Amino acid sequence: MRYTHRYMTQRLPVLFVGHGSPMNAVEDNTFSQTWKKLGTTIARPSAVLSLSAHWFTSGTRIQTSARNRQVYDMYGFPKELYDVRYHPDGSPALAARVTTLISSGVAEDNSWGIDHGTWSVLCRMYPEADIPVLQLSIDRTATLQEQYDIGRHLQPLRDEGILILASGNIVHNLGMIDWQKPDGFAWADSFDAAVKNAVLAGSVQQVIETAGKNAAAPLAVPTPDHFMPLAYALGAAEGSVPAVFNDARTLGSMSMTGFIFG
Ligand code: ZN
Repeated sequence: MRYTHRYMTQRLPVLFVGHGSPMNAVEDNTFSQTWKKLGTTIARPSAVLSLSAHWFTSGTRIQTSARNRQVYDMYGFPKELYDVRYHPDGSPALAARVTTLISSGVAEDNSWGIDHGTWSVLCRMYPEADIPVLQLSIDRTATLQEQYDIGRHLQPLRDEGILILASGNIVHNLGMIDWQKPDGFAWADSFDAAVKNAVLAGSVQQVIETAGKNAAAPLAVPTPDHFMPLAYALGAAEGSVPAVFNDARTLGSMSMTGFIFG
């Protein structure tokens, strides 16, 4: 019997990455080192489907282009950050597959590109930019439960050599950032711990409840864009065992916590 490539493909994990400051793309620190290590320890994917907090749209949009534009969607950072070039191919075939899996309401949209939520992480994981990448947007009009359900539709991709990367932050409050603070405010630690415990307990309902009702939620999630990618990841990872990485808060109001599922 001949084994096809498909047969040989092992199930890929799902990642939720706390991307934090765009400077992690160029700074050699414990966060970026962990991302680098993930790139070498996870089985090599044939493509990456990225859900970045920075593509936050009404409805679900998908990039179908064979070529990716790199978007420098951050302002006032040092030049070296704008010198980072990350130009992986897109994947029209994967875009078609994702559109079929989600089954309704996905709009083709090539007006954006690969934003820093995606490239700041992938330039560490796959510095050669030799793995095709496309983004699926975060639907700002969907509830966390609905986003979780979209994530569930993506599960088959894990057996097809596709790495699902959700990139956001559990705690993300730009207005309260303290650039001199290496760790987190007490409320940031407390909210992050509550979400982490819910994820580790495998309880999506508890994650959703924490985002809505935890006393620190108004400070930790003042806007939902960076939290929402986690809901998609949980859906895609349903039933897989999570492990935590980069369990740290930084700049006071930013959590770097990430999960690898499966
Ligand atoms: Zn961000």
